[in-house]
Amino acid sequence: MTTNLIFPQLRPSHTKIVATVGPASDTDEMLAKLILAGVDVFRINMAHGDTAQAQTRLDRIRKVSQQIGVTVGILVDLAGPKMRLGEICGDVYRCTTEIPMKFVRGKTTSEPHTFTTTYDPLISDVNINDKIMLADGTVVLQVTEKNSDSIVCTVIQSGTVRSRQGVNLPGTKLSIKTLQQSDIDNARWAVGAGVDFLGLSFVRSPEDILELREILVETAYQNTNRWSDIPHIIAKIEKPEAVERIEEIVDVTDGIMIARGDLGVEFDIAQIAVVQKKIIETCRRKSKPVIVATQMLESMHHQTIPTRAEATDVANAILDGTDACMLSGETAVGEFPLQTVQMMHRIAVETEKVLAERLAFTPRLSRTTSVTHAVCDAAVTLADEIGAAILLVKTQSGKTAMAVSNKRCFTLCVGTSSNIRALQRMNLYWGIFPLINVPENPQENLMSVIEAGKTNGYLNHGDRVVHVLGITAESGYRNILYVHVVD
Ligand code: PEP
Repeated sequence: MTTNLIFPQLRPSHTKIVATVGPASDTDEMLAKLILAGVDVFRINMAHGDTAQAQTRLDRIRKVSQQIGVTVGILVDLAGPKMRLGEICGDVYRCTTEIPMKFVRGKTTSEPHTFTTTYDPLISDVNINDKIMLADGTVVLQVTEKNSDSIVCTVIQSGTVRSRQGVNLPGTKLSIKTLQQSDIDNARWAVGAGVDFLGLSFVRSPEDILELREILVETAYQNTNRWSDIPHIIAKIEKPEAVERIEEIVDVTDGIMIARGDLGVEFDIAQIAVVQKKIIETCRRKSKPVIVATQMLESMHHQTIPTRAEATDVANAILDGTDACMLSGETAVGEFPLQTVQMMHRIAVETEKVLAERLAFTPRLSRTTSVTHAVCDAAVTLADEIGAAILLVKTQSGKTAMAVSNKRCFTLCVGTSSNIRALQRMNLYWGIFPLINVPENPQENLMSVIEAGKTNGYLNHGDRVVHVLGITAESGYRNILYVHVVD
């Protein structure tokens, strides 16, 4: 029986940390430090780089996590129909309210006060009075004239823009599909590469997710025919259309990312906090993991201490009930990736002390008709009532671990599975600590964790362990729950 299982050295926070990999974090040494500091999931952003670069990053993350003996999840973010300005003559242009701006078709133009974009249908899609936001919403234009090959806009908020900066059309119905050919190619690569989660940018409808899933299922079927090779889909919520249909989207997706970068441009920024709360509440009610992303510790790009507002933002997202907080540029290109992760971890640990008290007085989210959810609910209540030292989850697909996570258990929850993908995905589930190399046989599963728990100082004589199992037997799926007293 295996007794050399590695328990988390430090009791990490229950809230998961997603960190974006980039030049600042792309070495064996830094990745190892970030994992030990509390990163649970690494994000590889396909908006910057190709599959060759992503494969190199993925291989390095897997190698380092194996060396340390800790699993991590990998989230690959598909760029979707991100619009950008074309090349600007001289690279920089100052938009002022006195001079109207023109947009023409094509990749580049030498006409003065004129832009091109990477989004070809822009001129046909926009209508008079629609807003066009440039450079993360720092410059705002409004369409005043529309012709077959050009549009004219007045500048209602001045500012400077550069070549290739982002373009958002908040009120415009886009004619383009959410899944671009490059996204489909990248998604097919991700299935073969063993990616755990795929982020889909600019989701507008549940159909966008179903279309991606069909491609993933078809690719996995052609490659290996293993269901576990299908990455879980994380729908990135950054368009008002997606917020309007959030209930249906949460129903069909595997998880949600509140992508506040683009969301804060597409929406009135004054509404962003309430939109975030509404999305988190929906995910909690429907038992789907949710990530809050972008500018969480933004000033730590160049400083070792965040602003008071940033530290409060992370804490508030945790109190709202998020499963994970995400770092973008802070760990990809920032000067202090390690300190940023350590800071996020510290804020989470402090905030969770209050979260535990709050949850004790929160009524149950909803009644459930799911057997797995009911058994997991009972397991979490039982673990709390008898003061269990460990709640051990044995699952195949990860479904039982996700259900335990949704109940927000403050007992140490150890997740085990013979399926490595299911185990890696547990890194996104609030409060679940996946343990590798635990035997599958239920009795051995329990005894090996008890042995390891004793060796690592987590368990003593007389301690109680709640064991909850999700098992596919010949006669059907069953959940089992029992209590073991350590002798
Ligand atoms: C965002 O917009 O907040 C986001 C996470 O997406 P991206 O980094 O792809 O812009």
